[in-house]
Amino acid sequence: MSRRDDLAAGLAAVRTRIEIACAAAGRAAEEITLVVVTKYFPASDVRLLVDLGVTDVGENRHQEAEAKQQECADLGPDLRWHFIGGLQSNKAAAVAAYADVVHSVDRVKLVGRLDDGAAGRSKPVDVLLQVSLDPPDRAGRAGADVADLSGLAAAVATSRALRLRGLMAVAPLGEDAAAAFARLTDLRRPFLSEHPDADWLSAGMSGDLEAAIKAGATHVRVGTAVLGSRPSVQ
Ligand SMILES: *Cc1c(COP(=O)(O)O)cnc(C)c1O
Repeated sequence: MSRRDDLAAGLAAVRTRIEIACAAAGRAAEEITLVVVTKYFPASDVRLLVDLGVTDVGENRHQEAEAKQQECADLGPDLRWHFIGGLQSNKAAAVAAYADVVHSVDRVKLVGRLDDGAAGRSKPVDVLLQVSLDPPDRAGRAGADVADLSGLAAAVATSRALRLRGLMAVAPLGEDAAAAFARLTDLRRPFLSEHPDADWLSAGMSGDLEAAIKAGATHVRVGTAVLGSRPSVQ
């Protein structure tokens, strides 16, 4: 099989999983945006994916993402780039210069930096607040505490070039994803009543997209199930 055939098969399988999960949850498959996570894979795969109908790709490392986006610049503005990885504040402005959606805003310090980077863009950069589903004492914990979401949302509201779109979360390792995403559904309720327009929910990966769709995900971030195992070295 050619690489194109592999990707087409992976995409078809993931789209079927999304349809089945939506049917089970009483939702329409059109409510879900599939963000194909192309990290560690070459720009040539992004081109094949776009040819197969993919409109949204996700990356988690700034240098790789920036280079790949530049290599694919000729694909035009219909391809949306999602930054889904941990953000260093000294890189945030550079990320906002090419990312259309930033999923990983988890501290106020990032907001001003992203806003500076987004200032020259022709339209606002969409941002999601990453909320942690980890226990408070977990080492390497990514994402904001629930208690900090209001402050983060307020910071985004005062920005010039960012638009608050919703929340993002990752199910903790070693925990049943359904249980973690049930907590996400609960914490999202008060957030949505304060910010009714910020109704995107980025949750679900190759292993747990069904549980995420059941919990209300609007954006699933899927890498391995479409592209295969990631190369361990680049
Ligand atoms: C890599 C990554 C994904 C995709 O994970 P797969 O298990 O390969 O589908 C999703 N979300 C984030 C934040 C990631 O870093």
